[in-house]
Amino acid sequence: MRMTPAPRDPKLPPIRINLMSDTQTRPTPAMREAMMRADVGDEQIGDDPSTNRLCERVASLLGKQAAVFMPSGTMCNIAATLVHCRPGDEILAHPSAHVLTREGGAHAALGGFQITPLPGDDGIFSPDTLRAAIVPPNRYSAQQRVVTVEQTANIGGGTVWKKSGLDEVVSIAKKNKLITHMDGARLMNAVVASGVSARDMSEGWDSGWIDFSKGLGAPIGAVIAGSEDFIDEVWRWKQRLGGAMRQSGINAAACLYALDHHVNRLADDHANARVLARGLGQIPGLEVNQPQTNLVFFDPTKSGIETKRLIAELDARGILAGALDHRIRACTHLDVTVAMIEETITAVREIVSRA
Ligand SMILES: *Cc1c(COP(=O)(O)O)cnc(C)c1O
Repeated sequence: MRMTPAPRDPKLPPIRINLMSDTQTRPTPAMREAMMRADVGDEQIGDDPSTNRLCERVASLLGKQAAVFMPSGTMCNIAATLVHCRPGDEILAHPSAHVLTREGGAHAALGGFQITPLPGDDGIFSPDTLRAAIVPPNRYSAQQRVVTVEQTANIGGGTVWKKSGLDEVVSIAKKNKLITHMDGARLMNAVVASGVSARDMSEGWDSGWIDFSKGLGAPIGAVIAGSEDFIDEVWRWKQRLGGAMRQSGINAAACLYALDHHVNRLADDHANARVLARGLGQIPGLEVNQPQTNLVFFDPTKSGIETKRLIAELDARGILAGALDHRIRACTHLDVTVAMIEETITAVREIVSRA
């Protein structure tokens, strides 16, 4: 079976409204300007000034000793578990977590690690679920090594882990000698939505990272942070996996631009997501989750239209959204305006009422 996604049918109208993902953002003219002016060097030997500046900024943002620029968030997760775990070790994560569902089995394939799911509503597991999953070291069980959370929980609905929940996970982990890793692909969305700083959220976590190619709007890159020793070991894996770069300052400049200009505006994305959820919620039969950040999940099946068909009919109007099981995920981001949101609501209402 062909595993590469088929390209979009060229007979369809051009995409006008792209709610598929916040990865679909295009670098703005000002961001491209910053990239063009970037000071660059050889990242692999530590000589790229823009990348070095970015790593210092993120280390300080997350309150960690050191940080390293990575080509993707996926590579941050993979390098982190490769450093933290040994073959046969166990990682504890929510069943919807990216590490478990969307990384091609990397943690098993490359590390020989198994992942034990910690279920819970909206992508978030409770302290009791974590406590109940912990087994004292013994000859029969895998060695439990890492507990990981997603901030925000993507498939969970873009939900935000509360500071108190994060602190409890850290405290249970420390008591049981588990390492803590935070997948912060959308950490800055959580920061803007909750008002809790990135440093406070990351307090006590052994490793954590933020993605720049999601709502922050940069084309490429993520930065992972932790202790100096941890980052040293991440560098070894980055080199081994082929993630060490050269003039990465071109990309780091886009990330620095995003930190300066695209963090506070995430609040606009969250407001747009609420407008979208409110509008969709008024359409009979549509089940809509109340968004906490920039991800809106809705299920149209009770309105009499199949998820796949609704997506196809939106696509035929140049509106892109993503399918996730029976639900649709619509992401707001910096290329989505409130007028586009209104137009999307109108389109969904028309399609559903004709079905
Ligand atoms: C997107 C995402 C990743 C992976 O990031 P990439 O930069 O796309 O590799 C990891 N975790 C979560 C929660 C994500 O949403």
